[in-house]
Amino acid sequence: MHLRRKLVAGNWKMNGSLAALAELGPVADAARAAGGVDVAICPPFTLIAPAVTRAGGAIAIGAQDCHAHESGAHTGCVAVGMLKEAGAKLVITGHSERRADQHETDAEVRAKAEAALRGGLLTIVCVGETDAERRAGSHVGRVTTMLAGSLPEDWEEGELVVAYEPVWAIGTGNVATPADVAEMHKAIRTHLVGRFGDRGNRIRILYGGSVKADNAAELFAVADVDGALVGGASLTAAAFVPIVEAAAG
Ligand code: PEP
Repeated sequence: MHLRRKLVAGNWKMNGSLAALAELGPVADAARAAGGVDVAICPPFTLIAPAVTRAGGAIAIGAQDCHAHESGAHTGCVAVGMLKEAGAKLVITGHSERRADQHETDAEVRAKAEAALRGGLLTIVCVGETDAERRAGSHVGRVTTMLAGSLPEDWEEGELVVAYEPVWAIGTGNVATPADVAEMHKAIRTHLVGRFGDRGNRIRILYGGSVKADNAAELFAVADVDGALVGGASLTAAAFVPIVEAAAG
């Protein structure tokens, strides 16, 4: 068996509706047919419970954020226990849009990731450099710093996933080249093994940023690419299913 099972996760961001959950039917069929690939969809909070019903167990349903505390005076926020009660199995933490729009720091991302793991959710911790950082040649250093500050120390095998999402590639159509991805995923793996020893080889590293049907296979062929975090192309089954199929090989 391969060391790490591929994971293809969709991030619907602030998109979707009850009607849009019809897209999950063909995705669930593809997930069953793919076998050997984990498939997840993270819709907005309000769609988690109905999505779980529609997914019928073939797709793991997750959230796009969580709070670091279990309860309390945090208006507008959602705790891990609430996500679990709704049927969520995972949560994305530290997405670049939250780091930018909500000014989330590495320490906050780490606290959220720790809360997710404590509560029994898998967490996908996102890291990635800006265009300016890449142009300055500081991309590897920037991502390594983000990993150092954002990743929890204690985790069980399979629960912690890293997503490398260069900010300049998200929603832009500017997908990173296989060489860019190879360089960064190798650097991330080196950090993980340096920090966690051989256990670091068990952490899946996803690539995210304009993944589509026509570039997925090429990206999945890169060493240390263990799947994808997909935004725009996860909104319809027609766009997402070929990515799941590409992961199955
Ligand atoms: C994302 O938001 O995580 C993402 C990768 O978006 P897109 O696939 O649309 O670039």
